[in-house]
Amino acid sequence: RASADAGAVPGRVRVAVRLRPRNSEELVADADFGDCVELQPELKRLKLRKNNWESETYEFDEVLTEFASQKRVYEVVAKPVVESVLEGYNGTIMAYGQTGTGKTFTLGRLGEEDTAARGIMVRAMEDILADVSLEMDSVSVSYLQLYMETIQDLLDPANDNIAIVEDPKTGDVSLPAATLVEVRDQKSFVDLLRVGEAHRFAANTKLNTESSRSHAILMVNVRRAVKGRQDMDMGYRAENGHHTSSHSLRPPVVRKSKLVVVDLAGSERIDKSGTEGHTLEEAKSINLSLSALGKCINALAENSSHVPIRDSKLTRLLKDSFGGTARTSLVVTVGPSPRHRGETASTIMFGQRAM
Ligand code: ADP
Ligand code: MG
Repeated sequence: RASADAGAVPGRVRVAVRLRPRNSEELVADADFGDCVELQPELKRLKLRKNNWESETYEFDEVLTEFASQKRVYEVVAKPVVESVLEGYNGTIMAYGQTGTGKTFTLGRLGEEDTAARGIMVRAMEDILADVSLEMDSVSVSYLQLYMETIQDLLDPANDNIAIVEDPKTGDVSLPAATLVEVRDQKSFVDLLRVGEAHRFAANTKLNTESSRSHAILMVNVRRAVKGRQDMDMGYRAENGHHTSSHSLRPPVVRKSKLVVVDLAGSERIDKSGTEGHTLEEAKSINLSLSALGKCINALAENSSHVPIRDSKLTRLLKDSFGGTARTSLVVTVGPSPRHRGETASTIMFGQRAM
């Protein structure tokens, strides 16, 4: 498939792969072994080594090496989606991959001490705040965790079973019970993310689980006053011969759109012989949501009329931010270590099926 389209195109998922560098452990323990992936970024190709002689080659919309800066990753993965959200379309940005490969690094880093380190959530908000005018428009966020098919409010830990509500007429999805905080400046947004992270950690400690077993979901609602409305109205009235009604009696026309950023649960197969009691249930639930997501993404890629959105809470939540006129960007994250070749291969296949 041609990947000439540089921007986000509705109805298909843009897929980038990002490789993280070896960590100190892998540098030492796997020093005698070459990396299991090799990138050719200019060709947008990734080679997955089977052994010393053979490799498989895969193409992506974008290939981000271990040297790719956070800024470049934002520009490639997120910016087109953020721009279309500012134009009034819904959008989704997701990171998929094995735990430890850089999903949170890519999406969630706050970069308070080092602005170059800032991840996609923070950069997206910066672009949104720069574009809207807060006298006319509004930006508000909810921050959630989806664990075992239950939605928890990361901005209010007591609120731990949030229902998904769908407007029967428009099909719009919302979470009326979730805390919705108006964002007026970048600093308060970063503070909010930090509070959410702390609540996530506390909630998961209480549940005796790890954040890698749940999805973290940031929802950004943008409401903009539509410009040029008066002119349009005047034209309409002139044509119809009504000159009596006053503009000020009508509510201003507001255009709503939504950006959803999803730091997905780790895609690795959880050891089903685990003794922690809830491990098997967790495995089933993660499997359910990631495979439901995979099926929906495949259906989009294949232009299938049946997108099985109802199969999980994750996909139900994404219903109006996914497919249709919405823009979707997926970054799959992989590590270089040959030890995790199997997981890396399955992550790559997930990304390939989305294209
Ligand atoms: P995940 O969220 O997928 O479990 P993390 O984002 O927590 O993974 O990353 C795991 C570790 O690898 C962290 O210590 C992180 O700082 C580091 N890391 C991830 N991606 C990169 C990268 N591109 N460059 C440098 N370090 C990275
Ligand atoms: Mg993470």
